[in-house]
Amino acid sequence: MKVAVIGAGPAGLVAARECMREGCEVVVFEAGHAVGGVWVYDDKVDDDPLSQAASATVHSSLYQSLRTNIPRDLMAYSDYTFDSRGGGNDRWQRFPHHTCVQQYLENFARKFDIVDRVRFSCRVTHVQQSAGNWRVISTETDDVFDGVVVCNGHYARPRVPLLAGLKNFKGQLLHSHNYRRPQDVKGRRVAVWGSAASGLDLAYELEAQEIHWIGPAFHEKVRLDDRRIGYPSLDAIDDEGRLRLGNDLIAVDSLVFCTGYHYDFPFLDDMFVSVDEDWVNPLYEDIVPPHATNLGFIGLPFLIIPFPVFEIQAKWYARQLTGGFDLPSFEVMHASINERKEFLSSQGVLKRHYHRLGDHQIGYFNRLAKQCGESSIPDWFVQTWRDVGKLRDEHPRNYKDVSFSVRGPTVCLPA
Ligand code: FAD
Repeated sequence: MKVAVIGAGPAGLVAARECMREGCEVVVFEAGHAVGGVWVYDDKVDDDPLSQAASATVHSSLYQSLRTNIPRDLMAYSDYTFDSRGGGNDRWQRFPHHTCVQQYLENFARKFDIVDRVRFSCRVTHVQQSAGNWRVISTETDDVFDGVVVCNGHYARPRVPLLAGLKNFKGQLLHSHNYRRPQDVKGRRVAVWGSAASGLDLAYELEAQEIHWIGPAFHEKVRLDDRRIGYPSLDAIDDEGRLRLGNDLIAVDSLVFCTGYHYDFPFLDDMFVSVDEDWVNPLYEDIVPPHATNLGFIGLPFLIIPFPVFEIQAKWYARQLTGGFDLPSFEVMHASINERKEFLSSQGVLKRHYHRLGDHQIGYFNRLAKQCGESSIPDWFVQTWRDVGKLRDEHPRNYKDVSFSVRGPTVCLPA
């Protein structure tokens, strides 16, 4: 079978490997010049600091100092350790700098003969169904494939929430997608909106004298230290351009949005899947539409340990594509999607959080593994994941530098 993989980031690379292992002929389309996706650092930023203009093209959202927020032993693919026996170095930091991840991914692509299958600087512009197969049109080529795996990533189209009065703001507006280093943020009073991974990094990396940090991590206004105050929500910008934060009105020089990203498949016709408030549907197991199961999506879930989850999704997709196991009927797949939707909606979960797995990722991983004949996630992995959660709670500022047990096969020596 001929399979097209769209994107040579961590999801596309492992999708290519698993399809090749199942005997498929694989072509990987990559818009950029290198493998690694988000991990290919780009010092360039979009002209529009919030990246809302159609001209926005920069893919990577990495900042210069970024170190991973997951230890490298958990980030490794199952049979390619993140040390000198696999694609890394035994003395890399446990939470390594982003350049190490890029090196690991390049080594992975070389080791598993994926690099030669990649068409670089080749952006897919259309994917069309033709007689059960797929026509894939790119900036360079036009071919037909038996299967298509969409791995274009979802950290490149910034989300800017609606904010009443935003036009009154006179200072600098910036999305974290376009942040590279502390000097990029101007002024002595700065607001950081968002308390997930990038919000946390920026709130502690920025050098401003006053940092007003807003996000659901704070249940009420709280002074964090002599420079930082946390607030639960940003309600509006008033007529004079000040931020309304509960009962406070605060003037700042810069407002930095660490408010996440949108899913986007500009090359795909709406008839296969649609993106409804950032819920991509209908997808069985978040991977295939029930009416076209040779079209796969690897990497949609978030709040996960990405590389291992991508790997099990890729094995699942490749095996069902090549007849290694049978998917349930169209009706059963649809019923399963609807059941999950009803459940999430009854719990009050926002649609844009339907792909958020968090604690459910272990159950998700094991369910996919069982269906496609793989082993469950190992105990050491689950325990290390719990260790990291505890570490973050206990040392929110410096958990990346606290030493903790190595339980799995990756060698982690002092840096
Ligand atoms: P991407 O890495 O985004 O790769 C997608 C690829 O598809 C890109 O190379 C892009 O050029 C290509 N592409 C897109 N559209 C097209 C097209 N039309 N045609 C051809 N090619 C196309 N994960 C971790 O595991 N640990 C971390 O510490 C971590 N930190 C992160 C920090 C930041 C700031 C961000 C933004 C993300 C972080 N992540 C982290 C998540 C990270 O996104 C994943 O690790 C991973 O890169 C996702 O892989 P992907 O292949 O799905 O997408």
